[in-house]
Amino acid sequence: MDLKNYIRDISDFPKKGVVFKDITPLLKDPIALKFATEALLHSLENRRIDKVVGIESRGFFFAPMLASGLKAGFVPVRKAGKLPSKTLEEVYSLEYGTDTVEIHSDSIVKGENVLIHDDVLATGGTAKAVCNLVEKMGGKIIQCNFLIELDFLKGREKLKKYAVKSLMHY
Ligand code: AMP
Repeated sequence: MDLKNYIRDISDFPKKGVVFKDITPLLKDPIALKFATEALLHSLENRRIDKVVGIESRGFFFAPMLASGLKAGFVPVRKAGKLPSKTLEEVYSLEYGTDTVEIHSDSIVKGENVLIHDDVLATGGTAKAVCNLVEKMGGKIIQCNFLIELDFLKGREKLKKYAVKSLMHY
């Protein structure tokens, strides 16, 4: 099955010059949704995972399903100010300015095996910040997985230390 048939390009969204990879056609198709979920699970090759960390917001579509399939727990990483309890935060650079991601400080226990998931790997800044948070908590990053990788933005170079698997490349 060619999952690229279920990805829609939206030009100039959310701002001029960006070609946004819209995954909602994939999400609404029952066969493509199941196929993508199983392919992401398969990429783990039976590694034991304790926690799946999903990145706000489109990482939340698949991460809980992956966690359920792996008999692991799901942990959300959110933008600043959204998580209600005590958090750890990581600030990272954007093209202009900075952004902050947060995780609940009690969500990962030292030594746990962690899978990180997001829908798109672009420049890798977000995923790297999330990796830093997980490592600060003593989590062991087993893999970072993505539905889509924008190869030309070289996000993988920021994640050199980790196993990175993506279902689709552009
Ligand atoms: P980055 O930190 O540059 O790797 O950006 C990753 C985050 O931005 C992910 O959470 C993606 O959901 C989102 N993102 C970046 N570029 C795109 C794109 N072209 N289409 C859809 N989402 C994108």
